[in-house]
Amino acid sequence: MDDSKIVLVTGGSRGIGAATSKLFAAKGYTVCINFKSNLEAAEVLTHEINTLGGRCFAVQADVSQEAGVMRLFKRIDDEQGYLSVLVNNAGILRQQSRLEELTAERINSILTNNVTSYFLCCREAVKRMSTHRGGQGGTIVNVSSGASRTGSPDEYIDYAASKGAIDTLTRGLSLEVAAEGIRVNCVRPGLINTDMHADGGEPERVERLKSIIPLQRGGEPEEVAEAIYWLSSDKSSFSTGNFLDLCGGL
Ligand code: NAP
Repeated sequence: MDDSKIVLVTGGSRGIGAATSKLFAAKGYTVCINFKSNLEAAEVLTHEINTLGGRCFAVQADVSQEAGVMRLFKRIDDEQGYLSVLVNNAGILRQQSRLEELTAERINSILTNNVTSYFLCCREAVKRMSTHRGGQGGTIVNVSSGASRTGSPDEYIDYAASKGAIDTLTRGLSLEVAAEGIRVNCVRPGLINTDMHADGGEPERVERLKSIIPLQRGGEPEEVAEAIYWLSSDKSSFSTGNFLDLCGGL
């Protein structure tokens, strides 16, 4: 049997996901880099990892759709090795606004992209990892947000609420599969320098808010990737259902 470990990083082509993909590749994992539509970013990252001698493959799949998730995991099943780590990271936010402006279409889109996707990927990962189903165990790291605590007033309460759901998913699933060789943990970043803030209509958001961060700066994707890697590795072997905040003290 091929015993090489595969990590799936959803939304692994840009931002926090890209830093995570690079770190796992450097640690010897075969990295499945999932993305939704930006093929160029995925190809650039794949090329970079391969050039450094790492193993990776990119899979376009919209993880908010069940068919996309099924196709993504089928692609992993066809690869040499076994799924050892799932990093649930793909997420979106929309234009900053107050709650009065939110439409049902927008709220449902945020929940489908940020919550349903995590549930579906957890479901497929557990089926493959659970020792009760013949798997070898594994780890799941959910990328939530400091927004689950702040609620993101005047910006995107819908997004913050979707991350609150991820905290609850983490707690519940960690207990459900603890005796099956699977650990489930969560990172909660805050104000990290990525493209995501531009999607909310304010590319310079981190710069504007950095003075309220006790460490006086925004975080880098690589700093979040280190926490994700730690929670997925044996170094955190007695942690499950736990949360690691990466908010610079906020
Ligand atoms: P980002 O730079 O905007 O990158 C998002 C990634 O997710 C891209 O690879 C994108 O693919 C992918 N993606 C989005 N929707 C997808 C879908 N339905 N199916 C598959 N892939 C999808 O985001 P980021 O800032 O790195 O954020 C990553 C995670 O960290 C998110 O869950 C976010 O909520 C969380 N987070 C971020 C911050 C922050 O300050 N940046 C703070 C707290 C939490 P394409 O390239 O194809 O679009």
